[in-house]
Amino acid sequence: KFKTVAIDGGAAVGKSSVSKECAKTLNYMHVDTGSHYRTIAYILLDKGIAPSLGEDAVSQALKGVEISTLIFGNSARMSVGGKEIEDSLIRTDKVNQNVSLFAAMPQVREFLKGYQRSMEGVAKEKNFAGLVMEGRDIGSVIFPNAEIKIFLDADEETRRKRRANEGISDSISKRDALDKNRKTAPLVRPEGSVLIDTSNMSKEEVIAKTLALIAE
Ligand code: C5P
Repeated sequence: KFKTVAIDGGAAVGKSSVSKECAKTLNYMHVDTGSHYRTIAYILLDKGIAPSLGEDAVSQALKGVEISTLIFGNSARMSVGGKEIEDSLIRTDKVNQNVSLFAAMPQVREFLKGYQRSMEGVAKEKNFAGLVMEGRDIGSVIFPNAEIKIFLDADEETRRKRRANEGISDSISKRDALDKNRKTAPLVRPEGSVLIDTSNMSKEEVIAKTLALIAE
């Protein structure tokens, strides 16, 4: 049976590696919704739209943005104007500093909501066995009826270390605070989700635990 798996959690808790690996193992389609917000942030900044210009300017600028999907192996990537927006463009300091400010705007979330929900149909159409979607509001807003909901957490020191090992400077706690305190779709542990504290777990252990939950 086709299953939808929602994996939520704060910055650098290990969502991406777990989601990707589980999707690969099970032949599920993987969608990283953080990359959607990052792509929007990149496109807007590139157009000269800063979050401080406000919601009306952002919503006006979004009117000209056409999104579609490219599939690479198990991962579905959002593209803009048919072009792939590479990781190196959306994982910069500038995007890290601005993405949560854009993501707090209801217009931006509304813009992505329908697209993200449509990924279930894309996964089925492409004959994947299921869908793994990771983000901040997947189990709470995008797919509240997902068969499996997982909430990953880790203490701050562990997360800072993991990010530092990736060689990226990132304001993890600042982004988390913005994500938890926004009015629209704040970062919460979704109702009915299983909490996994990954602080003292290896990546392999988290993957095994997640695969076991999906198999239940
Ligand atoms: O997952 P990642 O750290 O790449 O996400 C970047 C930012 O995108 C988050 O800090 C958050 O502001 C936003 N985001 C969101 N809702 C999601 C996924 C990401 O608001 N479902």
